Amino acid sequence: MTLKQLPRLAIVVPCYNEEPVLPTTAPILADILTQLIHDRLVTADSRILFVDDGSRDRTWQLIDQLRTQNSHFTGLKLSRNYGQEAALMAGMETAARQADYVITIDADLQDDPTLIPAMVTQAHAGYDVIYGVRNDRSTDSWFKRTTANGFYWVMGKLGVNLIPNHSDFRLLTHPVLVALMRCHETRPFIRGIIPQLGFPATKLYYKRQPRQAGVSKYPLRKMLRFALDGILSFSVAPIRALLVAGLTICGGALLMILWILIQHFRGTVVTGWSSIMASLWFLGGFQLVAISIIGEYVGRTFTEVKHRPRFIIQTDTYTPSFTAAYREPSNSAAVTLHLSQLRTKSGERS
Ligand code: UDP
Ligand code: MG
Repeated sequence: MTLKQLPRLAIVVPCYNEEPVLPTTAPILADILTQLIHDRLVTADSRILFVDDGSRDRTWQLIDQLRTQNSHFTGLKLSRNYGQEAALMAGMETAARQADYVITIDADLQDDPTLIPAMVTQAHAGYDVIYGVRNDRSTDSWFKRTTANGFYWVMGKLGVNLIPNHSDFRLLTHPVLVALMRCHETRPFIRGIIPQLGFPATKLYYKRQPRQAGVSKYPLRKMLRFALDGILSFSVAPIRALLVAGLTICGGALLMILWILIQHFRGTVVTGWSSIMASLWFLGGFQLVAISIIGEYVGRTFTEVKHRPRFIIQTDTYTPSFTAAYREPSNSAAVTLHLSQLRTKSGERS
């Protein structure tokens, strides 16, 4: 995306029980934003948006206090704890109504916030998605590193295109945000969806830091649920695996039946064994095949009900060409015009 005017930035920060770390995080982010404004890289009305994901501590009170201290700080409070993905979606959806660029970053500053100016510069250069990628995970525990690597491996085998070692530290431009909001699944796996949206993307590398304060909000139970969400929301491969298993067992059943018949005619078995064994094997395999066929239908329903967009248009020069304000036939002018129309439609920006 190429913008003619200065872009408005929103830095979205999901917060769940982040009372211990917010007093450290907020001034660091504020300094970075002030510098960006000073360097005329973003508009002066850019914002930091803290999303309180149903915290049980004083996180929201802190966010509210920050707002009175500095007009760049804003907040969004969710009605309960929905989880990080939902908090991010809420923050991005709200920010996208006003902002041209949205950067998401964790509240604990494990991701390097000094990368933010470089992200903005890359967006100016024409990239729509800028991934923050960790090139050093030595501050993570052995367990976290191993399970994370295992997760990327499984996802890769299932054909899901993930950016290894990228979490939720990224910049998205307005067209990508619009596309993302058109993915209507209730439990979106954002890291998997964004590469699928397309758009010009680049990566910036950083060293992951230890958590500044507080504790990780991802106990093993939540991590497993997250991994399962990733696998199940992107792939019907487990259903296909069931079909392969069913067919293999059916094949095995034929060999078994042959062997059972041989044993039967040799008279080495007790009465009834052959028929029980043959039906056990065959029915077992047949049932798995039947379940997997039903599973295929369920799988297709599952992908359909998500209402993912069938296509995403990156640039449209046709629609703006009908408006009176249309002057320049250049690509960038068309996008700028299109974006301003989107905003005017939502009625939130002059
Ligand atoms: N988070 C959230 N809702 C949750 C869990 C986490 O908004 O239910 C936020 C949390 O406040 C933090 C980010 O998601 O800003 C990442 O969480 P955390 O740092 O605990 O995860 P880890 O780095 O240990 O994987
Ligand atoms: Mg963290």
